Amino acid sequence: MNLKNSKFYKRIQELRRFSKEKIRKDREQRTCARLDMALSEQRPHHESDLEWSSSPRRRSKKTKGKKKAASRLSGGKDTHCSSPVGDEIPPEAGIQSYIQLNDKCYRLACTRQVPVKSSRDDDRSISESKSAICVSNSRYAMIGRISKTLGYKLVKETKLWNILWSDSFPGVELFKNMKRFQQINHFPGMIEICRKDLLSRNLNRMFKVYPHDYKIFPKTWMLPADYGDAMNYALTHKRTFILKPDSGAQGRGIWLTNDLKTIGANERLICQTYVHRPLLIDGYKFDLRVYTLITSVDPLRIFVYNEGLARFATNKYVEPTPGNSNDLYMHLTNYSVNKRNSHYELCDNDDCGSKRKLSAINNWMRRHNYDVEEFWTNVDDVIIKTVLSAWPVLKHNYHACFPGHDKIQACFEILGFDILVDWKLKPYILEVNHSPSFHTNEQVDREVKRPLIRDTLNLVSAVLADKKQIMREDRKRVKQRLLKTKGETLQRPRVCSGSTKTEGSPKKVEPEEDQDPLAQQVAWEDSHMGNFRRIMPPPDGTKAEYYSQFYGQTNQVSIFAETAASKKREDLARKMRLQIEEKKAKQDQMLHGRNKTDKRKRQLVILPRAVREKNRVQLYRLQEHWLPGFISEAEERLRHTWLQMRTEAIKTLRITENVYATLYEAGNLTNTDMVVFPHLYQHLQNGFDIKQHT
Ligand code: ADP
Repeated sequence: MNLKNSKFYKRIQELRRFSKEKIRKDREQRTCARLDMALSEQRPHHESDLEWSSSPRRRSKKTKGKKKAASRLSGGKDTHCSSPVGDEIPPEAGIQSYIQLNDKCYRLACTRQVPVKSSRDDDRSISESKSAICVSNSRYAMIGRISKTLGYKLVKETKLWNILWSDSFPGVELFKNMKRFQQINHFPGMIEICRKDLLSRNLNRMFKVYPHDYKIFPKTWMLPADYGDAMNYALTHKRTFILKPDSGAQGRGIWLTNDLKTIGANERLICQTYVHRPLLIDGYKFDLRVYTLITSVDPLRIFVYNEGLARFATNKYVEPTPGNSNDLYMHLTNYSVNKRNSHYELCDNDDCGSKRKLSAINNWMRRHNYDVEEFWTNVDDVIIKTVLSAWPVLKHNYHACFPGHDKIQACFEILGFDILVDWKLKPYILEVNHSPSFHTNEQVDREVKRPLIRDTLNLVSAVLADKKQIMREDRKRVKQRLLKTKGETLQRPRVCSGSTKTEGSPKKVEPEEDQDPLAQQVAWEDSHMGNFRRIMPPPDGTKAEYYSQFYGQTNQVSIFAETAASKKREDLARKMRLQIEEKKAKQDQMLHGRNKTDKRKRQLVILPRAVREKNRVQLYRLQEHWLPGFISEAEERLRHTWLQMRTEAIKTLRITENVYATLYEAGNLTNTDMVVFPHLYQHLQNGFDIKQHT
């Protein structure tokens, strides 16, 4: 029978053809996919990466106007910088671009994840490479919503977030455990200007040293400590005083008086001279909420938002008299107080309402021939000086909490500065809020606060840190530490801000070091300011010189050293630093110890017992000092059994009795022997032969 003609053979051939065809088609499809991927890898480094680097949050619009993205990167200017390191930018370096600032050329190297070649990473989902933000500690839903629209992934606090946005001040533990790519929206130590009593203390201290420069707040006394001073002042000046609880907020517990004798000598209060002739608009008193963003304390970088709020009192203003000093709707401008008044005005128009935008106030001032530019220069001055009053503490705390944050700044913070303006247009600082309200009850709130959050998230430099790369580096570092041999020193991360040249002076950015994270941050921030303006470092060189005197590190230290509270603060900071060092040492020790054990275990498995024992003895001999050695459980058990056998033998062979009797016979028994073994002694005294009998 011819097999090739059989039905069965034909069927097999058909199936083989079919499967071959299928394999061919599959292969073709795979090749196409690979080709697509290769193409997309080549293109994005020049096109869509620019989009990412300008704003990682605009990834969804990758294809839209790449030129627009490039111009955003260059701060809207046409920059033609020649690359300091050559024009070829390696794709694996991440997103890069050049930016020209003050005649200097910075390289923007934003190491956001871009499609990379390794087959392992090919299947990485886009969402994995998104910057993650944790907003679960914030009550404002708006922050989460805006973050989402900007492309941030919302994660829980337990995940590896890039940014943690919290309404309250986080604990030191959180600061200590932060990774090098993480940022948090509070600086440790900002409380120095955010609590009324601490703010007063810092400003008073600065006023003592720089009386001409620090007239930026109303005269303030902290009661009961300054009770005598306040009384003396009241005797010589006929003034109205405003009294506030030392850590109060939202106008709670505030009252006016011109008779300080009514205050109990032990009451804890902030007593301030009342600014009795404030600037009035339409007859109403108002104060300004100026939003300020600090992105770094060393070097100090402060940005002020050009838009903000003016909060109006709801009863027409009259200078304080005993008759009207109880009228809080007239003298206080807090929203939380005035919203309760039936005269509170909601208005969609810019020039009316009890809450208005700063731009509306500027327009009003221009209409009334006030010098708006000069006014805002003065406001900026007040803000800078207020922050500088706490600068030594801020700087110290930052370095104590984040010794290893070398890629990006560990913190940023939006502060709400409450500024009162008098009839001469002189601004006074009243209060600083570390968690200004982001409630959006009114249209004006939405128009101010939404862009503020958006511009802040665009400005902060979290995006410049490559989470995966940093984690890889950290793992490598741990590995290095594990494999560290004696005498070998570890490569510590360089703390960009720690390399101070002159203590007490603001550090200058070194743009020549094109890889310097600080230079990258400066370039990033200056090209992503949105509606912020930078006030520190000031754009004007002479001003920078002027402010440098207030850093006065040595002066500050001596002034701080005067107070008991400052000593306490220093103690705390020292303790914190010690804790961090201790924790690090412990970790090192743990890792080192584990490494030793692991090595030994490995040897134990490989070497025969006799060699192991010899090695161990040799090791002991080599050691200069005795160290507790490795304890084997099996050996211990064996030793225990031998001890039991020995005890048994001593008992059965009656060794103790024999030795005792021999000593007795030779007259060598000591008093102790008689006391310790009284029964044996008794038997011998009674003439028993203890060598034989029990
Ligand atoms: P709180 O934190 O409770 O809001 P503030 O210090 O901000 O306390 O004061 C509340 C309001 O009182 C301010 O908005 C302002 O209108 C008014 N105020 C406070 N201090 C003074 C002052 N020295 N002179 C005039 N008005 C003041």
